[in-house]
Amino acid sequence: MQKGDLLPCPFCECTVIRCFEVFGSGRYRVDCNLCNGGFEANNRERAVALWNRRSDRAGRIAGLKEAAGLADEHAADGANLDERSALLVLAQAIRARIAALETEEGKS
Ligand SMILES: [Zn+2]
Repeated sequence: MQKGDLLPCPFCECTVIRCFEVFGSGRYRVDCNLCNGGFEANNRERAVALWNRRSDRAGRIAGLKEAAGLADEHAADGANLDERSALLVLAQAIRARIAALETEEGKS
């Protein structure tokens, strides 16, 4: 396993992430060196795939939250009603996407 195969921690963004077998159990644990966030899976490939999927989703959610905030901010400064309405609709759509991603997170 190359170090670069594991994405940064979704909780604290630390890049020192370990993947190791849990004491001869055949199960693998991925965890963050800094905050100890992590979990186990039945094999190494699954543990790495789950970690990276979670990390990627957390990054997407953070980016979408920033975009929604910017849309709100610009809507408040909007020159006219049409522009403000369009930005508020956009912010609403982005928040719906965030909610969908967070729901998906809860299921995995
Ligand atoms: Zn961490």
